[in-house]
Amino acid sequence: MAGTDRRITCRARLAAPLLAATFLLGAGDGGALAVDELAPGVYVHRGAQLPLDVPGHDDIANIGFIVGTRCVAVIDSGGSVRIGRALRAAVRRHTSLPICYVINTHVHVDHVLGNRAFQDDHPSFVGHASLAQAIVRSRPYFVKEYAPDLDVPAAPEQVIGPDRLVQAELTLDLGARPLTLHAWPTAHTDCDLTVYDQKTSTLWTGDLLFIERLPALDGSLAGWIAAIDGLATQRVQLAVPGHGPTTTHPGDALARERGYLESLLQGVRRELAEGKSLQDAMLHVGADEKSGWLLWSDVHPRNVARAYEELEWEK
Ligand SMILES: [Zn+2]
Repeated sequence: MAGTDRRITCRARLAAPLLAATFLLGAGDGGALAVDELAPGVYVHRGAQLPLDVPGHDDIANIGFIVGTRCVAVIDSGGSVRIGRALRAAVRRHTSLPICYVINTHVHVDHVLGNRAFQDDHPSFVGHASLAQAIVRSRPYFVKEYAPDLDVPAAPEQVIGPDRLVQAELTLDLGARPLTLHAWPTAHTDCDLTVYDQKTSTLWTGDLLFIERLPALDGSLAGWIAAIDGLATQRVQLAVPGHGPTTTHPGDALARERGYLESLLQGVRRELAEGKSLQDAMLHVGADEKSGWLLWSDVHPRNVARAYEELEWEK
């Protein structure tokens, strides 16, 4: 999700009883997050499809871990220290091997605020070359808007950034288990990183792929479409999107996401060519794509505004 940008902050729409039920379902018994082993040694916790400003908002991203013969890599740490601790407890239910890496797929709160829960494991925190600056830039906003998720007292140093950066590609070995990390040009954000488990051909896409939940733009629309085209060429048995169900047919999900983003691109370009205002663009662009996406009215207007701002400069 887009957590660094106020403009993309969503509005509560769900009834409180439903929210409470979803919130409780997030964690398994004993404080461990519920995870599924979707491929040998690949454990995934599925986040809830909730906006960012309701109870349970710290548990909306897909997060998890991969176990090698030597150590464990956590992939995204959740939207609070509480969720990070619950993910750590889930790791410990499945293995006593050390946690050697905490990999963040990008800067958004729902993927990074749990990092501190792993600090005492002394892992290497790994991210895109631009993630370090993105974390520095976002810290004041995170501390102001998400203080309860950072534990008490909230302080900038509790938002832990990467100490190992990926410029283009990096392979990490968990012991008979190489993971290939790929740093993408600006797309969903300016710091998107994917993780490919060679052993099971599982690709963790971060928020380069949304399924069911409407994609939220916080980087470059044209760049995101190019990244999707790059992802579509990869041989993948299982894809773990940033949000929504995992899939063994990522090509279909990528095509659906691309269709929405392309419609946004062409629609905003057309409005700009006709000299239409942002308000006009918000009324006209993308309506044909609405069917089947969650959180449309929360996210789509922000995407149009973001695209309008980006594409204005093409003129
Ligand atoms: Zn995101």
